[in-house]
Amino acid sequence: MSAIETVRGPVESADLGVTLMHEHIFVLTPDMQANYPDEWGDEETRIADAVTRLQKAYDAGVRTIVDPTVVGLGRYIPRIQRIMEQVPINLVVATGVYTYNDAPRFFTYRGPALGEALGVEMPDPMVDLFVGDIRDGIAGTGVKAGMLKCAIDHQGLTPGVERVMRAVAKAHLETGTPITVHTHPSSQSGLDVKRVLCDEEGVDPGRIVLGHSGDTTDCDHLAALADAGFVLGMDRFGVHLEVTFEQRSDTLLEMIRRGYTERMVLSQDAACYLDWADPDMLAFLPQWHYTHLFEDVFPYILERGATQEQIDTMLVDVPRRFLE
Ligand SMILES: [Zn+2]
Repeated sequence: MSAIETVRGPVESADLGVTLMHEHIFVLTPDMQANYPDEWGDEETRIADAVTRLQKAYDAGVRTIVDPTVVGLGRYIPRIQRIMEQVPINLVVATGVYTYNDAPRFFTYRGPALGEALGVEMPDPMVDLFVGDIRDGIAGTGVKAGMLKCAIDHQGLTPGVERVMRAVAKAHLETGTPITVHTHPSSQSGLDVKRVLCDEEGVDPGRIVLGHSGDTTDCDHLAALADAGFVLGMDRFGVHLEVTFEQRSDTLLEMIRRGYTERMVLSQDAACYLDWADPDMLAFLPQWHYTHLFEDVFPYILERGATQEQIDTMLVDVPRRFLE
């Protein structure tokens, strides 16, 4: 057992219960929101809506959610604290940077980039920011990050993506905090994660969730990553874009059949509000919410040979072992 940091303080790992390993509350573009706040509307209404949606997840059995909303996704902890005062779910928050391309402008002339201009070696200030979020808490709130996050998408290992990835590795090695990576499995970006984070930086793949692994139906590729030691995030149920409901669920079933239950975690990557899409577009994804797994996916896979014990392993045991 160990203590896991959450928004309301540390929780014993044995008490985490059913854990969704990748859900957001809000995904926002802060400088757009600051200047064009009309769509967001009333703060109190948004908070009340989030409380209602999270309470519905609690009523479905969810006890813990990992929210990998970091810089680049509009992380703002004071608002999250207000919500979590009103819902009994444990929320684990994250530190890191989310980009598919460049590091945020803030870092342009700091650390290694500045060092290059001056011809001297300089440490990356990202590392200390991440470590501070983990050890001291985020922005004076006292809320400590319990997860590290970076991303790689179809653009591949751009200099910005690689810089963030190496900073995440260093913060992990200093703190032991586990890592979740947004990956793009159809371009096999998990192999870049393996090379940079594990082979070069020395991170144990067992401490890394390869997020969005369920966006592919290539079970051989997923099996190779699981065999390398990674945890696979089957974490976008409800996002029927690259794959359908049936393809996503059948991939999960096939991976269970191949014996990888102990290497998978489940989630939906849902949010109460994200400003990346026209609200009218989101209406085309009606199953993209916090309880889709319980309402649709579990009945589907139970009918096709999966067991409740296997579901519990992926919802409770694998997350607990991963976080502790
Ligand atoms: Zn996400």
